[in-house]
Amino acid sequence: MNVFEAIRENGITARQAAEHCGIKINRSGMAVCPFHKDKNPSMKIDNRYYCFGCGEKGDAIDFVAKYCGLGKKEAALRIASDFGIGFEDNRGRKPPPKRKRRLSPEQRFEKAEKGCFRVLSDYLCCLREWKE
Ligand SMILES: [Zn+2]
Repeated sequence: MNVFEAIRENGITARQAAEHCGIKINRSGMAVCPFHKDKNPSMKIDNRYYCFGCGEKGDAIDFVAKYCGLGKKEAALRIASDFGIGFEDNRGRKPPPKRKRRLSPEQRFEKAEKGCFRVLSDYLCCLREWKE
């Protein structure tokens, strides 16, 4: 199973990916589009996303790739690592070791709740700034 299949298997939606990137999604499943100068939520996000303003559309991987300025493979790898999805890219090759020190599932959950999203979205902002 490669990383793309693993993400599909795990049913990661564009909505989950967008929320993970710090995008606020309202109760109707609409969000302010990060890909054009959007004042009112004009992006519909569910399994996939579609912006009625600028026409951007795709799935979770497309969203992260576009939002973070990554290639599809990099975006998929990021989703897999952020959502703790295991996959086997090449036969006999182990997934890359985690950069962070090992935490128990409880600790990881708590940490994610507290600061992970915040840190990640800050980091994404930096990435976008560097790109410009
Ligand atoms: Zn848009």
